[in-house]
Amino acid sequence: MTTTHADVVVVGGGAAGLMAAIQAATRGRHTVLLEKNQKPGLKILISGGGRCNLTTTRHGKDLEAQYGKRRGRYLRHALRSYPPTALRTFIEAAGVPLREEDLEKLFPVSQKARDVVVALVRELDRSGAELRGEAPLTGMKLDQDRFVLTTPRGTLTAASVVLATGGLSYPKTGTTGDGYAFCRQFGHTITQTWPALAPLRCDEAWVHDLQGIVLKGVDIACLDRLGKPTVHRQRPILFTHKGLSGPAPMDLAGDVEEQEGHAKVRFDFVPEQSREQLEQSWLEQAKLHGSRRVESVLPRWLPLRMRQALLSVSDCDPDQRLAAWSKEGRRRLLATMKGLCLPIPRSLGYGHAEVTRGGVALDEVDARTMQSKLQPGLFVCGELLDIDGPIGGFNFQAAFAMGRLAGLTA
Ligand SMILES: Cc1cc2nc3c(=O)[nH]c(=O)nc-3n(C[C@H](O)[C@H](O)[C@H](O)COP(=O)(O)OP(=O)(O)OC[C@H]3O[C@@H](n4cnc5c(N)ncnc54)[C@H](O)[C@@H]3O)c2cc1C
Repeated sequence: MTTTHADVVVVGGGAAGLMAAIQAATRGRHTVLLEKNQKPGLKILISGGGRCNLTTTRHGKDLEAQYGKRRGRYLRHALRSYPPTALRTFIEAAGVPLREEDLEKLFPVSQKARDVVVALVRELDRSGAELRGEAPLTGMKLDQDRFVLTTPRGTLTAASVVLATGGLSYPKTGTTGDGYAFCRQFGHTITQTWPALAPLRCDEAWVHDLQGIVLKGVDIACLDRLGKPTVHRQRPILFTHKGLSGPAPMDLAGDVEEQEGHAKVRFDFVPEQSREQLEQSWLEQAKLHGSRRVESVLPRWLPLRMRQALLSVSDCDPDQRLAAWSKEGRRRLLATMKGLCLPIPRSLGYGHAEVTRGGVALDEVDARTMQSKLQPGLFVCGELLDIDGPIGGFNFQAAFAMGRLAGLTA
């Protein structure tokens, strides 16, 4: 088998690795990109339902805040030196015009994730980097000041190695956590990992019966084991035969997982009204329309099956007339409408998770260059690090921005 000598070997052809290889090769570094799959960019291809929500129009402090305080602070340099506007310019110059959709998301005008992958591979080719598919990294060691890398297709030596092998989510796309072992080998700490951006499992049969219902304008929050909210979202919620899916529940998954089986999800079905305002409006309706049924106080935009379920969990007789509605009954329905809590033991796991929370410890990797503070010449970027963001293009944005920094120094 042959041995290739390269200046830079990038491991993993996802968003971070492709960008790192393009940048390194454009600087004139002899760069080889190793990808486990036959072709790079598989996750980009399946992202955003095949449409690829590449990035966002959010910016500055607001953008950083999306990743949480600690992770946002870490990403500050990457995001300021390569904000969404820069990524947009890059991808549009590569031939893929983008347009903004709801919630500040940017998608290709063509609605085809494939166009993004084709453009990135073309840029990679143009940069002079060599792409090797079906070339998983299986071993890595240091020989004096050079890295020796093993693949089933031969050995490589390199002055710099960029690890961009992703996390553990969607393992069938090639991301099986390989990078963690290589990082551990060089002394890195891997923080505990959890699936994030995944549908939530709920074991309540009545929730399964609501399968197919979509709610908009409802606020849900993840409560920790002490009942304190950790994160909340007011985005669409889809009831499924296993629990809850859609943007809001998926955004809560990382926080749910961190509670190790003790999380609850709290619903506020009428976030625009306080409890007092809601009760007052019900009392007024009872005064004016005492012969109406209790069910009539529930908002009409809630699907009938949902209204019936809410009355049932509140132990309210739907045929009860408003004039005869007891104070306790009213309080029970109020508690449901402004604070129904569902025990949510877990998400559906890595097989359904769009990202991995946790990974290589941030304080061991220089946020300005992505170089390991423990091993000179080793770079770590993308989802392999302890970085994750919510739905909305934030994960690609972070991966591209970190990959760029690695490629500019490696
Ligand atoms: C279904 C789905 C939809 C998504 N939609 C969006 C979206 O619309 N917008 C958004 O911002 N984010 C989205 N994400 C998240 C986004 O895909 C990831 O955050 C992003 O891909 C991370 O980039 P990365 O380069 O760090 O890792 P990855 O894209 O995971 O790339 C890692 C690469 O490394 C390769 N690899 C692994 N081990 C080895 C090895 N030993 N040797 C060689 N190669 C190896 C893998 O095959 C893979 O190609 C989605 C994720 C999923 C699963």
